[in-house]
Amino acid sequence: MKLSPALSAGGGVARSPKILDGKTLSRAVGRTVAAEAAAVTKRIGRAPGLAVILVGENPASKTYVAAKHKFAKECGLVTFDSHLPASTTKQELADVIEGYNNNELVDGILLQLPLPAPLDGSEFVRMIAPTKDADGLHPMNQGLLLQGAPAPRPCTPLGVMTMLDLALSNITLSDTTTLADLSPASLAGKKAVVIGRSQLVGKPMGFLLLERNATVTFAHSKTPDLPGVCREADVLVAAVGVPRLVKRDFVKPGAIVLDVGINRLPDGKLCGDVDYEDVAPISSAITPVPGGVGPMTVAMLISNTLQNCKRNNGITA
Ligand code: NAP
Repeated sequence: MKLSPALSAGGGVARSPKILDGKTLSRAVGRTVAAEAAAVTKRIGRAPGLAVILVGENPASKTYVAAKHKFAKECGLVTFDSHLPASTTKQELADVIEGYNNNELVDGILLQLPLPAPLDGSEFVRMIAPTKDADGLHPMNQGLLLQGAPAPRPCTPLGVMTMLDLALSNITLSDTTTLADLSPASLAGKKAVVIGRSQLVGKPMGFLLLERNATVTFAHSKTPDLPGVCREADVLVAAVGVPRLVKRDFVKPGAIVLDVGINRLPDGKLCGDVDYEDVAPISSAITPVPGGVGPMTVAMLISNTLQNCKRNNGITA
């Protein structure tokens, strides 16, 4: 593997960082998924299907769900839509999930989180058939991740890994780029720090980095000297939920900085967990917010659905 100049030098960075454009990269994922979905459709006589379940009227969730339907359709998938009222009972939601578990046209089920109180998201994620889990959050699939066995991986960390592959490649994204143009980068000998240890992002993120042979540190709210710990990182992932927590003094010159955070500021604007303006000049590659990890999460959900369909139909190529 060829490391980016800044990473291989391990020292100061003099040139502008590579901006990891999640919107453009997600279109490259989409081209790959569309081509594979077309081949699968021909082979099994139906398109891969994604079911999206939304409970309540959370405006952010509605936006995310709309983006997921749109991306899936653009890639040639069929989508099923269950928009349930916030007053939905446990039994009603369980019945909807069970219906999709038993529906042969559905390969991926996404339950949009968070659920309105008193519904508990993790209780219902467990009801999704693991083989139809589009988000990769079912406990069985999280266990398979720990074992390094094939299973749907959590979408956001998966998207971050693809951005890392882009960071460590020499390719320039274009209208014809596909995932075939990127190869999985080895992180042997590199230190990765993940700030955050949630089930959704931080923990699976760390294990995906470990799979690529990085030496991984998890940092969290009880970590002393957070800037010092982060400064060790060749690859720094922030999944915290604190606006612009990561400043220049957290970052080793030449590090790759991947910002998962999506925070809404009082003025309505979005920002990440990284102070982009402060950090970008000393990084070798960095994700913007918005337009970074967010679009990749959507793309990976659709990719997971396709992969479920292939796995469940014995298609290996
Ligand atoms: P979460 O469940 O609230 O976890 C946050 C983690 O950050 C926890 O492990 C917490 O530590 C740690 N933390 C909080 N404050 C900290 C501090 N001051 N210093 C160090 N660590 C601190 O959040 P999440 O679900 O992982 O999401 C994290 C961020 O990613 C949020 O902004 C969320 O909106 C965003 N997100 C984005 C996408 C996307 O597609 N881009 C997807 C999912 C989430 P403790 O464990 O010690 O409490």
